[in-house]
Amino acid sequence: MRIINQAGRLGLVTAAGAVDVERASSGTFSSDPQAIYERWDDFVSWARAVPADGAEPLDARAAGPPVPRPGQVFAIGLNYRAHAQEAGLELPDSPMVFTKFPASITGPVGTIVLPPGSVDFEAELVAVIGRPAYQVSEAAAWGYVAGLTAGQDLSERELQLKPPAPQQYNLGKSYPGFAPTGPVLVTPDEFDDPDDLELACTLSGEEMQKARTRDLIFSVPQLVAFLSSVLPLAPGDVIFTGTPSGIGWTREPRRLLAEGDELVTRIEGIGEMRHRFTSSRRPPLAPFTY
Ligand code: ZN
Repeated sequence: MRIINQAGRLGLVTAAGAVDVERASSGTFSSDPQAIYERWDDFVSWARAVPADGAEPLDARAAGPPVPRPGQVFAIGLNYRAHAQEAGLELPDSPMVFTKFPASITGPVGTIVLPPGSVDFEAELVAVIGRPAYQVSEAAAWGYVAGLTAGQDLSERELQLKPPAPQQYNLGKSYPGFAPTGPVLVTPDEFDDPDDLELACTLSGEEMQKARTRDLIFSVPQLVAFLSSVLPLAPGDVIFTGTPSGIGWTREPRRLLAEGDELVTRIEGIGEMRHRFTSSRRPPLAPFTY
């Protein structure tokens, strides 16, 4: 099953487009994409029986984040060997966790404002929690994941790495628009192997990152087990699982995001996100609203 946020309304993706969930369920399920994770098991049962007729064509430009207002956003640093090497940092023996504050969430298309400084890209697989998860075993962990989507962990490196230690990871990665996700959320059963997906990103036509999620140091189930060993995870929480090698900050010469750049981020079986960048000052971008 694939779901989409179309102009703020939850849609169930079919071959013909998207079925509007609120209308097709006669109001049993809300149109709010965020609300569905609280009722994920009921929704999955209902969605299996939904007739494909009544689907409306997808409008890629109207796609919003599949999880618009997550309660918790976890992000994992140094989760691919080659990325830890390029960053000049030692491999962690347990997941290195920080947050992207929810105000940074945005959708899979559109223009993102570059703050002053050095803004970098990080293509990442993003896992979304679908059931309350506390002290969950690695073996059971996939059962607590609603689905997977694509993400970018955009990062302003100067603020992120500003001394003294511990540095400002959370703030440097939380400017408005710095957590784009989408274009759809795909349930784990849709993949031949949800632990082995190709992810890549291209910056203004040049391929910058390409890897497979089987090379994650800590897999999605290991991350769910580790995080939930410390605190409860709630439906609609989001985990950015870490970026592979190829970031702009450690390239020679550096390749940071600039006015007019186009960043395309894609994950096998999920689809692609497409963003442009501007340095003009504007208010924070929709669709972040409470
Ligand atoms: Zn990251």
